[in-house]
Amino acid sequence: MTGRRTVIRGGLLLDSQGRAAPQDLLIEDGRIAAIANPGFEVSGDAEPVSASDRLLIPGLINSHTHSHGALNRGAVDDKVSLEMFLTGAGASTRSRGVEDKYLSAALSAAEMIRKGCTACFDLSVELPGPSREGISAVARAYRDAGMRAVVAPMIADRTIYQALPGLIDALPESLRAQYAALSAAPIEQTFATCRDILANWEFDRRQIRPALGPTIPLHCSDPFLMECASLAREYTIPLQTHLAESRTQAAIARTRYGASLVGHLESLGFLSEHLSVAHAIWLDDDEIAKLGHAGVRVAHNPSSNLRLGSGVAPVRKMLSAGLTVGIGTDASNTSDGQNMFEATRFAEEWISAGNAFELATEGSASVLGFEKIGRLAVGYEADIVFLRLDSTHFVPLRAPLLQMVFGENGASVQTVMIGGRVVFQDGKLLTLDEALLRQQAEAAAHRLDQANADLYASGAAVARLVGAFCAAQGCTGHPLPRKLSLACP
Ligand SMILES: [Zn+2]
Repeated sequence: MTGRRTVIRGGLLLDSQGRAAPQDLLIEDGRIAAIANPGFEVSGDAEPVSASDRLLIPGLINSHTHSHGALNRGAVDDKVSLEMFLTGAGASTRSRGVEDKYLSAALSAAEMIRKGCTACFDLSVELPGPSREGISAVARAYRDAGMRAVVAPMIADRTIYQALPGLIDALPESLRAQYAALSAAPIEQTFATCRDILANWEFDRRQIRPALGPTIPLHCSDPFLMECASLAREYTIPLQTHLAESRTQAAIARTRYGASLVGHLESLGFLSEHLSVAHAIWLDDDEIAKLGHAGVRVAHNPSSNLRLGSGVAPVRKMLSAGLTVGIGTDASNTSDGQNMFEATRFAEEWISAGNAFELATEGSASVLGFEKIGRLAVGYEADIVFLRLDSTHFVPLRAPLLQMVFGENGASVQTVMIGGRVVFQDGKLLTLDEALLRQQAEAAAHRLDQANADLYASGAAVARLVGAFCAAQGCTGHPLPRKLSLACP
């Protein structure tokens, strides 16, 4: 990223064991070249950077987000379950041009950097289907922000009405034909686009890499999932899907497959070290063991799980089973922000502060497939966040790691360096024009809300029906509710 040499002096450095000690760092070619006692001698013309009264931590890594959510902030009602959210997803992302896709990713990147996050795994949806131009626009936004990212087109070959058996029949007759007629992008076209994206990746893979995001197994046919796995092997890229995020998904998987969700994916050959799974809430012990056996990684999204009422992920069980777990925020319209400090604090099930921080750094790095991020150590990328130690939650300073994990909300972030380049300093993002982004976002939101007004209105009505159907599925599994009416609560 930069050929410059920089020496950071005077900081309190948090090492991979969670210990904080005064240490200076030398950075060359964007990587950490040396870590040594304060004042150590550096030959040549390294530019000095002061970290006096700062805690130096590795940049947090967001293992699961959706950049398209940023332009949709504030548009999702509260008390909306996952399936109700998905019912309205069309309204939130249709009618967008390439510049809207860039803008949404730039807004998302700006929030992540401001809150001390230096890399993310982004599943980006485009409707009616993925495009090389759209994914390039998202990658461009991360490049311009100076952030590291894995960018995956989020894809499927079924609508939610095709994904959930019995849903169409449960809708009132007046709506049935309209929603049964909806279809996802044709499979051949989707994979031709994905191949084009993977074969012609135009970005520096040290900073931005491609991946694939089959959205939810139930929303993908078996041949579709197998083609994703095959492309991941062919191009050596990561795959990420949403797994057992809702109780409904786990229940319907048993109806559809006659097996557990993970059992079915295993039988397809879909589980591998290429795969990471977001949420992973409604799993039994056998499914957790299968994921561990296959080397599948997990992206844990506690704030989104709270927002959508999805449930509490069995993080301790997954860690005990040897799974690698990272932490993610999920989209800005389901969590409702890109604050990795908050997501880390919410990593529930009473894991230790040290564990939670390890998940948000090295665990997430493993989900992204970047080997040399997530730790302040020689040979690692210089992705470093400087936290002000005069922030109230650090005073008095006894246990920096613990005080950071339980007390930090991003407000102490003073400097963010990615690949040795300072991208944020003293409250100002140096790589993007945030005032301009704000103007563009307000204009785009106004235009898109008008263009999608009909979809929002019809989506809200049908979302209530879908929510009632799924609640019945999730709670009882069988029998399916025979009829739902628009008047249901
Ligand atoms: Zn998600």
